[in-house]
Amino acid sequence: MLLPETPDSLTLAADLLSAGKLVAFATETVYGLGADATQGQAVASIYNAKGRPSFNPLIAHFADASSAFAVVKADERATALAAAFWPGPLTLVLSRTTDCPISSLASAGLSTQAVRVPLVTDGFRALLRRFPGGIVAPSANPSGYLSPTTAEHVAAGLGEAVPLILDAGPCTAGLESAVVDLSGPDPRLLRHGALPVSSIEAVLRQPLTLDVDPAVKASPGQMTQHYAPNKPLFLGASRANADQAALVFQNATGFEDASVLEILSPSGSTIEAAANLFSALHRLDASNARSIVVSDIASEGLGAAINDRLRRAAAKRED
Ligand code: AMP
Ligand code: MG
Repeated sequence: MLLPETPDSLTLAADLLSAGKLVAFATETVYGLGADATQGQAVASIYNAKGRPSFNPLIAHFADASSAFAVVKADERATALAAAFWPGPLTLVLSRTTDCPISSLASAGLSTQAVRVPLVTDGFRALLRRFPGGIVAPSANPSGYLSPTTAEHVAAGLGEAVPLILDAGPCTAGLESAVVDLSGPDPRLLRHGALPVSSIEAVLRQPLTLDVDPAVKASPGQMTQHYAPNKPLFLGASRANADQAALVFQNATGFEDASVLEILSPSGSTIEAAANLFSALHRLDASNARSIVVSDIASEGLGAAINDRLRRAAAKRED
């Protein structure tokens, strides 16, 4: 459904988002495909709608800087950049707070979370205020296609996969946000975007380390850093020993001896499994087991993306 942004359609959008459904909306950069950041299954359904082959971390959008900085650890660099450029096309990657309410799937299991205060209509900003945990949104296009800058682009690309597209006219910037990682000592540019590097450096009063992934051009959103547990991870297992932790999709048969067991989806849904993936891995990694074994997971639906992340986790931090 494509509706012009009005008080009524904004109310409908807020109700859909609260119910765990997806809503496409305009920002100054590109149209985003949004979900309530605190609902794991809603976040998982973004990857499903886009047909993303992997779980890349998502940007969480907030009404204002104080809401954004309630869920991540902001330092002076972050507050200075926020004061200079928010609302605007700058995304900051910061460490998650210990009680960060955002689904671990939105961070792809990493300890960092990307946050942004976009330039949106007053109506949409009021909607964002109703979601203090943020609205996560990648660009509202099928994976591998161009980012949409009009509501019609979204409808043509994603159509039925989005319950509601809010039309607020064409995007003014039409380019993605610049992504700056402030989670370490040196500020790093992870993605070029609608804000020039020189403007960011002027506020930081120091040069940015350019860490723009060469794969980004071929495959936007692809990134080298990914979650890997500390314990060895073995894929394709059909049983577990007593000193092993086990991760299974739906059926625990054969894994009865595991010291800890995580079932990704008792109902057999790959959306539910995706929503649980990283939190389950974190729990298994924190257990007393020596290693983690993982049963085969069928590649239907989000299964392919789950398997992609598990393969990367098993390969440790090699790429
Ligand atoms: P998109 O979802 O298409 O808007 O792209 C989001 C961009 O932000 C991608 O380039 C991601 O790699 C980057 N990003 C989001 N979250 C993080 C994070 N926690 N760490 C590093 N990069 C991130
Ligand atoms: Mg994109």
